[in-house]
Amino acid sequence: MTFKTLDDMGDLTSKRVLVREDLNVPMADGQVTDDTRLRAAAPTILELADRGARVMVLAHFGRPKGQPSEEFSLKKVVAPFSHVLGRPVRYIDWEGDKAAVATLADGEIAVLENTRFFGGEEKNDPAVVERFASLGDLYVNDAFSAAHRAHASTEGLAHVLPAFAGRSMEAELVALEKALGSPEKPVAAVVGGAKVSSKLDVLKHLVERVDHLIIGGGMANTFLAARGIDVGKSLCEHDLTGTADEILDAADKAGCTVHLPYDVVVSKEFAANPPSLRTCNVHEVAADEMILDVGPAAVEALADVLKTCRTLVWNGPMGAFETVPFDKATVALARTAAALTKEGSLVSVAGGGDTVAALNHAGVAGDFSFVSTAGGAFLEWMEGRVLPGVAALQKD
Ligand code: ADP
Ligand code: MG
Repeated sequence: MTFKTLDDMGDLTSKRVLVREDLNVPMADGQVTDDTRLRAAAPTILELADRGARVMVLAHFGRPKGQPSEEFSLKKVVAPFSHVLGRPVRYIDWEGDKAAVATLADGEIAVLENTRFFGGEEKNDPAVVERFASLGDLYVNDAFSAAHRAHASTEGLAHVLPAFAGRSMEAELVALEKALGSPEKPVAAVVGGAKVSSKLDVLKHLVERVDHLIIGGGMANTFLAARGIDVGKSLCEHDLTGTADEILDAADKAGCTVHLPYDVVVSKEFAANPPSLRTCNVHEVAADEMILDVGPAAVEALADVLKTCRTLVWNGPMGAFETVPFDKATVALARTAAALTKEGSLVSVAGGGDTVAALNHAGVAGDFSFVSTAGGAFLEWMEGRVLPGVAALQKD
């Protein structure tokens, strides 16, 4: 995988640089409630400005469906972004953009209005690509989280302007390459979460690539059911047991060892610290019980598996971690992975909305080699798909 980075941009003095960032931050009452994405954008923006470029940020905000509106205006993100950058940031709307861009000074930073105010943005319409391209000399894509979409600002621009990966994009691509592109073996994957149906393509792709596939969470129940185990009232997609069997067969053929829990934490009601809580063998789940977490014996065995591995990729919690004590397996395994990473014996890459929340809950997100906050793009990458925004950055 080769792509150009900021290191390949040469002298940027007075160059007009269009930078695609992800500024789609959650807001409540006019305040940004989580500024992770703004902080992720900062290194690229500051570096370009410091190198004398005239920096124009392109981003979408919400789903305005091609209609300009106050609700979806990026104007309200300008002040919080300026705060994170520690620099003044100008706002430029789509009425006077040409004239405003012409007044940008070297090292100045501006946020252009929501790219999705143009209906052609999401259609990758050449006219919109041209509209954006006319404002800049160079293009930087720093939004991995939007790279699974072939839109004008995420893909089209890379074909008409010299294109480079920003620092966040670069870090993401390097980490993902290490985890699944050309990983050090043995490789383990942890896949958990609620449903098999949302991660079928992930599982199918992983069995061909990893040495150990650790299945936890609600989706493990479907696999247990496929093996003839009665999972009681557990979340289980009984209509997918055939598919689960196919995945197990494919794993067998590919030499991938699948690890399913052999003890589990169950209860009759789904509540915090329920009175009916108990740990049992998977063969002993009663008809009125639900499996809500992987059991301690299985977790210990899985920790031993991780100790033999050099690379780990993780998506999906092992149990219903939002409710105590069903966070135990996720927390324990996450801490093992973090400790092995710190020792230098494991490269650990994780991603997924709830997975990131679970790792934060375990207090170890910072100890993983890389944690992707990209959501949909991360999952598509785990499915082995080519992300159009990334493909367009690839050299030759
Ligand atoms: P991610 O967002 O990281 O991709 P998912 O959305 O696939 O993860 O799954 C996360 C959800 O799975 C969590 O809300 C968690 O409570 C749920 N979950 C995990 N294990 C179980 C289980 N045994 N029964 C029911 N829900 C579960
Ligand atoms: Mg989720």
